[in-house]
Amino acid sequence: MGARVRIVILGGSFGGLTTAYELRRHLSPERAEITLVAKDERFSFVPSLPWVAMGRRSLEQISFPLAAPLSRKHVVFAQETVTGIDTDAKVVTTTRAEHPYDFLVVATGHRSANEAVPGLGPFDGPGHSPMSAPETTELAGAITSLLADPGPVVVGAAPGASCIGPVYELAFELDHLLRRRSHRHQVPITVLTPEPFLGHMGMGGAGTIRHLLEGALEERDITYRTSVAITRITDEAVEAEGLRPTPSVCSIVIPPLAGVEAVATSPGLSNPKGFVPVDDHYRHQAADGVYAVGVAVALPPAGETPVPVNFPKTGHMTEQMADIAARDLAARIDGREGETAELSARCVLDMGDRGAYMAVDPVRPPRNRIPTVSEGRRWLYAKQAFERAYLATARRGRRMPTTLGW
Ligand SMILES: Cc1cc2nc3c(=O)[nH]c(=O)nc-3n(C[C@H](O)[C@H](O)[C@H](O)COP(=O)(O)OP(=O)(O)OC[C@H]3O[C@@H](n4cnc5c(N)ncnc54)[C@H](O)[C@@H]3O)c2cc1C
Repeated sequence: MGARVRIVILGGSFGGLTTAYELRRHLSPERAEITLVAKDERFSFVPSLPWVAMGRRSLEQISFPLAAPLSRKHVVFAQETVTGIDTDAKVVTTTRAEHPYDFLVVATGHRSANEAVPGLGPFDGPGHSPMSAPETTELAGAITSLLADPGPVVVGAAPGASCIGPVYELAFELDHLLRRRSHRHQVPITVLTPEPFLGHMGMGGAGTIRHLLEGALEERDITYRTSVAITRITDEAVEAEGLRPTPSVCSIVIPPLAGVEAVATSPGLSNPKGFVPVDDHYRHQAADGVYAVGVAVALPPAGETPVPVNFPKTGHMTEQMADIAARDLAARIDGREGETAELSARCVLDMGDRGAYMAVDPVRPPRNRIPTVSEGRRWLYAKQAFERAYLATARRGRRMPTTLGW
């Protein structure tokens, strides 16, 4: 290994950006040349996508260009799409260049496996999804049409989904929006979830969140069904195993996730779903010098459920993984090992007119602490304040304590 270590980070979101900032805290530009490769030119605060769908934020408001903060940190930004990773030759190939590395951090997030539910679309079928900026723009258009021509709505998640929080947020936010426009009486809302009970969220539930969600949905006349395996979305309905079709003119369904194509098709890098298997330091179990963090990582489900639900990978968890990986990588350059830690999670769910706060430690049960669950308007303000503070801090090349919000 030469005097200057070459580190390549793939992905410019929570995982990639946090890794870059944390690595620079430990490694000066004289010691490490860091390159961040991302296909998107901007960082987007993904947890605010449901607000974009409701017309309460624009994509510009929740994003910033990556180039300036990265150059302030002496990190080279390459806006390129990765097409392959050769872990033997230690080279990343993109649409424009080749990037040799000594260490590689994969933080490429997910590919939405929309093909799992015929009709999910969103661009070639009637279903909608908020899993990325373009999909959310499409969903925002569908919600505008719904306001003009109201009809029944289904908000749900497909079997194998792991990102369940937005199902609840979108149902509550839509309910709130329709009430404000006095259209709610024309729009029956049904939540269809693969979870065995409300608030399971792929992590076996969290304290009293199940009761909170049951009460909140019932209070708002939102019908729900659990252990549902959605099979198809048509123009008029959502079909599911063993159920009569649920009428819906606007079907918002969270898909199961897979690894992005470049990771899934690179030999020896990922499991059959395209996720990267890692150890407690977020190091690849076989490929030398390779780490993975965030949604790109393979994490086993919390337990068996009648309809599959996968383990969550939230923004807060992604940042903890990035911290652990960056510290281990910096320590390994000096011939040491970094410290590992169990993942915890803090998360605020937007309920339209208020918020619900959840804290689990660790995420995977059984847990040392009884989870904290709290409801109130202050949590909605906290979520909004966290978004603003996060964007303002990250765009200046700085980090803020992530224990505060989400
Ligand atoms: C609608 C929604 C709401 C959410 N709400 C919350 C919340 O309230 N709280 C919370 O904690 N978490 C929330 N999450 C989860 C959170 O957004 C994710 O955990 C987080 O975005 C994961 O970050 P990541 O860096 O792993 O991947 P991503 O955010 O998916 O980013 C992937 C990065 O990789 C890049 N990339 C992908 N493929 C390539 C390629 N081939 N070449 C180059 N670059 C590539 C992309 O450009 C992007 O920069 C939400 C998720 C969604 C979808």
